[in-house]
Order: sequence, then C-alpha cells, then structure tokens
Amino acid sequence: MGHAFDLAVVGGGIVGLALADAWLSRYPGDQVAVFDKEPHLAAHASGRNSGVLHAGFYYAPDSLKAQLTRDGNAMLKEFCAERGVTVRPTGKVVVTKSEDELPALYELHARGQANGVDIELIDESQLAELEPLARTHGHALWSPNTAVADPEAVVEALADRVRARGGDIHMGEPVTAAGPGWLRTSTTTYSVGHLMNAAGLYADRVARWFDVGREYRMLPFKGLYLYGNWAPGHLQRHVYPVPDPRNPFLGVHLTVTVDGRAKIGPTAIPSLWREDYGGVRGANIGESIDLARTYPRFLTSPHHDTLGLIRTEMPKYSRRVLAEQAARLVPSVRAADFTERGRPGVRAQLFDTVNGRLEMDFVVRPGERSTHVLNAVSPAWTSALAVAAHVVDALER
Ligand SMILES: Cc1cc2nc3c(=O)[nH]c(=O)nc-3n(C[C@H](O)[C@H](O)[C@H](O)COP(=O)(O)OP(=O)(O)OC[C@H]3O[C@@H](n4cnc5c(N)ncnc54)[C@H](O)[C@@H]3O)c2cc1C
Repeated sequence: MGHAFDLAVVGGGIVGLALADAWLSRYPGDQVAVFDKEPHLAAHASGRNSGVLHAGFYYAPDSLKAQLTRDGNAMLKEFCAERGVTVRPTGKVVVTKSEDELPALYELHARGQANGVDIELIDESQLAELEPLARTHGHALWSPNTAVADPEAVVEALADRVRARGGDIHMGEPVTAAGPGWLRTSTTTYSVGHLMNAAGLYADRVARWFDVGREYRMLPFKGLYLYGNWAPGHLQRHVYPVPDPRNPFLGVHLTVTVDGRAKIGPTAIPSLWREDYGGVRGANIGESIDLARTYPRFLTSPHHDTLGLIRTEMPKYSRRVLAEQAARLVPSVRAADFTERGRPGVRAQLFDTVNGRLEMDFVVRPGERSTHVLNAVSPAWTSALAVAAHVVDALER
C-alpha cells in the first residue's frame, strides 16, 4: 500500500482542482492528492471550452446551476484578480433571430431576475451602442457580468494554488479502480480517507465503482469552433441566440477571446466516443457500442427534439453552415473570414435512463466515503469554485 491521503480527487480538471483547493483551505495541513490520467493539465473540457464566465441567467431558479454560476462567476473573477490572470470584461448580448423569439427572450429575462443576476432588457438602439455588429428584432438582453478568460491559464493558476497549499498533483497517473477507503492507480494502491470523483467524461464510470448514479449513461456532445481573422477588438461582446429550452445547449454563438479575437461555436454534435476530438485518433469501439445502446432511448424521448437537434447539428461540421448560423446574429460574418478551426471540446452530458431526459443540472451525489460530481457540463468551468465550496460545506468530517 502506498501513501495515505485524507482526500484523493480523481480528475485534475477545473472541478477536481477546485475541490482540492477548497478542502485545503478548510483543512490546512491535510494530505490531499489529485490524480489525472493525462500528462499535462487542461487536456479535456477545462482546457477545451470558450472560457466564458457565465452570469447564471439561463438556469431554472431552484437549480444548482443557477446558484453556483452566479456565485462562481464572482468567485472566479476574484480568484483571477488575486492570481494575476487576465479577465476581459466583454459582457454579453442575447439577440433574437426574428420577432417570434421575443416571448422566449422575455422569459429568459424573468429567469435571470429570479436568479438574482444583473440582466437588462434593451432595445435595438441600445444594442447598436453596446455591440454595433449584432442585430436583433425589437429587443435583446444585456448581461454586464459575463466575461472571458483563457481557460488553460485559469486551470494552471488553480493548480499552482493547490500546490502552494500543500496538495500533490499526480499527472499521468490514471485511477484504474477505487472503493471506500482505497484507490488504485496504474502504479500504486493508496489508502484514502475520502474520495472525490471529478473525472469529467468518465465520472459516471468512477461513480459506478461506488454504486452511485446507476441510472445515468454518458451521451457526449462535441463542440467545434472557428476563429475569425478580424482585427482584435472588432467584435466587443459575446453574442448569443435565444436558446431552445428543450435541450441544455445554448445554440451557435460568437464569443470574444481574452485577446479580442472573434470565435464561432461551439456546436453540440453527438460524439462517437467520449474523447472524440476528430479523426480516428483515440477511437474507442467499446464506447461507441455503449453509445449505440443509449441513443435509441434518447431518439425516442418525448422530452427533447432529438431528431431536430441531429438535423441541425450534423451539418455544422461544414464551415459554411456554421458561419451562416452565426451570420444570423452578426450579419457581417463571412465564411471566408472564419477559416481557422479551434481545439474541439466534448461535453460530459448525462442521460437519465429512468425519466428519459438529458440531465439539465449539475449532480452531486454522496457515496460510501466518497462524493461524486456528475454532469459537470457548461457552465461548470465558471461555477467550479462555488461547486467546490458547496461540496466541502456539505461534508461533515
Ligand atoms: C465545447 C465546450 C465549451 C464550453 N464552454 C464553457 C464556457 O464558456 N464556460 C463555462 O463555464 N463552461 C464551459 N464549458 C463547460 C466546462 O468546460 C466544463 O463544465 C468543465 O471544464 C468541467 O470540468 P471538469 O473538471 O469536470 O472536467 P475535465 O476538464 O474534463 O476534467 C476531468 C479530468 O478527469 C481526468 N480523468 C478522467 N478519468 C480519469 C481516471 N480514471 N483517472 C485519472 N484521471 C481521470 C481527465 O483526464 C480530465 O483531465 C464548455 C465545455 C465544452 C465541451
């Protein structure tokens, strides 16, 4: 048996690092280790996202997402200020593609207010002042607290703070099995006081070792991006459409990177296996077979417009189609100006086989001597510090 840890975290993405950080801040001097299977940080969702600090207005008022995104946005900004990580205060506008979308826009505004988020209903002339490139029909929403940072820089800074607080980060050490009080990696078996599961695309598998979350199946969705060649700062604000409330994705949008570049995406294309970043590299036939078993349930679910989602998402492999979608929000977008593909990401989206729905909220489940963070999909990058405080607060030692 190797070393003994008071806390071991499986997964060194932003959620796992935030959990270790919150634990060490509460219990300084404890032995804490984070294990990640990859040799370098931010290899998966935490380094492959839009870097948008969401404000928290989309989510059902009683959800963890609503509470932890609003709080997480403020905590992440404070963290970045303290650690010298640049945050670009872009704000964000939500625009309509036609007047038919106005009732849904008003609904979103009301939801934001119910969530205690600063959100303003604006008219076309106010939109023209805030973001001259965007177009709307009648009204738009303005979210001043939405911002952007470099996702990898944030992860690196958080890893630095975990190390500074005395935590060990074991990169390139996959956890191959675990149970109450122990954990096995590719090299060693460790004794563990408490285990936290933040394994992202594999969190459902780790949870099963503890008999937790058996109703869930992973249904990963791929996000592709296109960078524009516009001068930095040409687009000033993130520009989003009104989302379809039947699914948990926000629709193709334009974001500004921390360096001021314009970026289109991400898509929400069904993935063929968990770490399906394109091409056949890393193809996993076993995972594809599992997915093929889950998809029929999703396809026939009365709760989602699955066929509509597939019909609209699959064509977005085409650069031209993606640019056309973005041009409905920002008419000056031309496919010829958006030719550089970004690093794709995959969402660790769970499907609940009992109620036949995609899980819309973050899920935190206790297990024997363990805690499992499941469905850490967007905006868990924004919310991570608040998620971790919530998890550590709820644990009695
Ligand atoms: C395309 C896209 C765009 C997004 N945009 C935004 C955004 O703008 N704003 C926002 O707030 N959120 C966004 N998100 C969501 C956000 O990226 C995720 O919610 C967040 O990164 C989840 O963090 P995580 O630590 O749970 O996952 P990950 O970063 O995936 O970390 C999980 C880690 O677990 C490791 N792991 C898995 N299995 C094992 C094992 N057996 N042993 C050891 N290690 C293991 C993996 O190597 C990985 O590093 C986006 C996501 C995607 C995919």
